[in-house]
Amino acid sequence: MPDSAAGTAYHAPVTNDCLFCRIVAGEIPATIVRETDTTLAFRDIDPKAPVHVLVIPKVHYADVATLGQGDPELAGQVLATAAEVAEAEGLLADGFRLMFNTGGYGGQEVFHVHAHLLGGAPLGPMLA
Ligand code: 5GP
Repeated sequence: MPDSAAGTAYHAPVTNDCLFCRIVAGEIPATIVRETDTTLAFRDIDPKAPVHVLVIPKVHYADVATLGQGDPELAGQVLATAAEVAEAEGLLADGFRLMFNTGGYGGQEVFHVHAHLLGGAPLGPMLA
């Protein structure tokens, strides 16, 4: 798989060994709340808030750094889908949190970029 000029950015439609690519492919079940041509939103299997939805691009980027540098338009589509889900889940009035864990220090466990959309209750300070 060719790397970009940046050295680490890459993408592919589906990879067999990626959990979230397998959800995109329909090989692993998920509770999907929104789908567009380029993005998918589904409920986290271990929710940390009353609403906990993961929003991903369908094509594989490892993390938000490679997505943001490799395809800013697609990154914007992920944000737009997250905003649409936030509205559909009734989160706009009281607020919500949207975050990308990235790399080891960021606590990322699944290396297919995903935004965590959290809401439905006060979430407390970010680094508590
Ligand atoms: P990370 O730590 O990489 O930012 O977050 C990965 C998230 O994926 C976790 O919140 C975890 O609960 C969620 N997750 C892991 N495996 C599955 C799965 O098979 N299905 C769904 N829907 N979520 C998953």
